[in-house]
Amino acid sequence: MSAAPETHPPSSADRLDAATRVVVKIGSALLVDQASGRLRRHWLDGVASDLAAWRAAGKEILLVSSGAIALGRRQMGLPRGPLKLEESQAAAAVGQIRLAHAWQEVLAAHQIPVAQVLLTLDDTENRRRYLNARSTLGTLMKLGAVPVINENDTVATTEIRYGDNDRLAARVAEMATAEVLVLLSDIDGLYSADPGRDAAARRFDLIEEVTPAIAAMAGASSSGVGSGGMVTKIAAARLALGAGCSMVIASGRRDRPLTALAQGAPCTWFVAQKSPRTARKLWIAGNLAPKGRLTVDAGAARALAQGRSLLPAGVVAVDGRFERGDAVVVADAEGRELARGLVAYGIEDARRIAGHKSGEIEALLGYRGRDEMIHRDDLAVTGP
Ligand code: GLU
Repeated sequence: MSAAPETHPPSSADRLDAATRVVVKIGSALLVDQASGRLRRHWLDGVASDLAAWRAAGKEILLVSSGAIALGRRQMGLPRGPLKLEESQAAAAVGQIRLAHAWQEVLAAHQIPVAQVLLTLDDTENRRRYLNARSTLGTLMKLGAVPVINENDTVATTEIRYGDNDRLAARVAEMATAEVLVLLSDIDGLYSADPGRDAAARRFDLIEEVTPAIAAMAGASSSGVGSGGMVTKIAAARLALGAGCSMVIASGRRDRPLTALAQGAPCTWFVAQKSPRTARKLWIAGNLAPKGRLTVDAGAARALAQGRSLLPAGVVAVDGRFERGDAVVVADAEGRELARGLVAYGIEDARRIAGHKSGEIEALLGYRGRDEMIHRDDLAVTGP
């Protein structure tokens, strides 16, 4: 037997190569010149070239782009310093158009269509709306568009907003089952202390778990730029790792920052210990209280065991009290649990379409719903 080859931790290039779906989050401080308040167009062109190269290599990309408020405040001549809530809502309304337009232009140069998606906290936290946002993002990916996502700051109020795009990006990564989340920042990673103040501060290359000690360091090394800083990046890392998505903090303070990252630029990787699919199935199987039960026939039970979706035709009984997006148990005629999943219909509609072909849904409900009662991505087989 030959000796085991020497093993190195995978490089950034290895980790990025292995990912088929990547979320890239870009902060306001990178997009908008601090002094003039103008969009940094040349830099943006470079990012677009980077993204085009990743797409050509077969990756699907979702962008989470900040900058709406920063751009809007300049255009409307709002003062520096903190804005009132109504002012930032108004600034976002003005700036978001310019932001989306800029992305459309720079990506059109590479024949890449752009889709604007504005999300609120509710869209990611409320189960029913979460399913909607998730399937729209999935369809955009399938169609080959790059979603350019931001928080819908114009309607978000203080109590119900993220306020920072780091955590929003982590939720998007979870929702889209992305394997990697890239946070482009004004700093090239997580440091043990504030590198601007402490000469002994060192950057972490690799973090596998966000321990309380790591979180405490984030507080100490907060960069103070943008709404985020390091604290929200650590919160994002927790969300991402929980969803099986690895996250990297890298510097955007250079041209072609994503190419630089792939070529070994300094950064901090937070490495997920499970895949996004596994994380999602575990979440569905273990973390949600089921609100109802769908009893299925033998054909549907076989389809589930083969990893297929549950169609309305195979459902023979519907019990419980659930809304669209709630978790339900799927059981066989003997009452044995086969699976758990997020159901695409509320109980009333589920009862109406149970036992019917998907093609009949529109006639039965008066609207064109989803073909599946539970989509296979939303199903975790738990039973015998
Ligand atoms: N959604 C905000 C904007 O577009 C940015 C939030 C953040 O700085 O993370 O202006």
